[in-house]
Amino acid sequence: MSTIAFIGLGNMGAPMALNLVKAGHDLKVYDLVPAAVKTLTDAGARAAASADDAVQGVDVVISMLPASKHVEGLYLDQGLLGKIPSSALVIECSTIAPDAARRVAAAAEARGLAMVDAPVSGGTAGAAAGTLTFIVGGPEAALERARPVLEKMGKNIFHAGPAGAGQVAKICNNMLLGILMAGTSEALALGVANGLDPKVLSDIIAKSSGRNWATELYNPWPGVMEHVPASKGYAGGFGVDLMLKDLGLAAEAALSTRSSIPLGELARNLYSLHSAGGSGRLDFSSIVNLFRKE
Ligand code: NAD
Repeated sequence: MSTIAFIGLGNMGAPMALNLVKAGHDLKVYDLVPAAVKTLTDAGARAAASADDAVQGVDVVISMLPASKHVEGLYLDQGLLGKIPSSALVIECSTIAPDAARRVAAAAEARGLAMVDAPVSGGTAGAAAGTLTFIVGGPEAALERARPVLEKMGKNIFHAGPAGAGQVAKICNNMLLGILMAGTSEALALGVANGLDPKVLSDIIAKSSGRNWATELYNPWPGVMEHVPASKGYAGGFGVDLMLKDLGLAAEAALSTRSSIPLGELARNLYSLHSAGGSGRLDFSSIVNLFRKE
């Protein structure tokens, strides 16, 4: 079993790392927040004193950080790439700008390090269940090296293309997710305002032509579904500000190719308004609160 450095143990990183510990890997973990590290050390992982310490002597480095600036900050500005053993494989799982992923991949290649961008889909429930979808960009050979590790955390692995391609596919998916969650919220709020029970309406939509991931697995209305952020005060899950970041990445990608994304831009403005109202750290399904009348 390989020794793995896991950096970034937030809502997604912690359950992903836990599945690697359960699979028998020797894990060295690091996060800026000590409480996040403790969850993993309680499960048998080794705490590293720093990111540099975490990568000493490992076979694989995995990172799951918020945004481009954290990933470039760590690998390039702080020079972590220079500390990783040259035989190791780097699997970068955060959702970041394709250009940022390409810059880090080029620097890794210049050092002779194998690297893939491997952003994920499936949410915190998918991370905990080990059923994530990995959307991989990078050389085929690096993906094949990563596959046995990715299979411990997910059940679908796609090769989107060269470095950065995983991020492009992930951004397109999340733009659609942001639109679907806002649309689902709007429809539920309309039904409730017109006298329907949100659970009855959700059950109907989940078996009708408006069904989608939100109505099937991640309903935004409190109390309709157990164990989703909406029924836990919108704690945990996928933050409004992270969705806003992804919709911003979609807007940048659209600008750079003169693509039209009117619905993506509208969704970006809705999440921006919601974040400005103080909800940035809540789960993104709390966008339903923009539409609720009661
Ligand atoms: P999060 O904010 O819960 O966790 C990020 C973690 O990174 C935090 O614990 C933070 O302390 C740590 N961190 C930041 N900078 C660091 C550094 N320099 N060194 C060490 N640790 C550092 O975010 P998350 O929800 O886990 O999301 C992580 C990434 O996954 C994001 O890019 C997000 O867009 C993507 N994503 C999230 C979900 C989801 O449902 N939450 C789903 C798919 C993809």
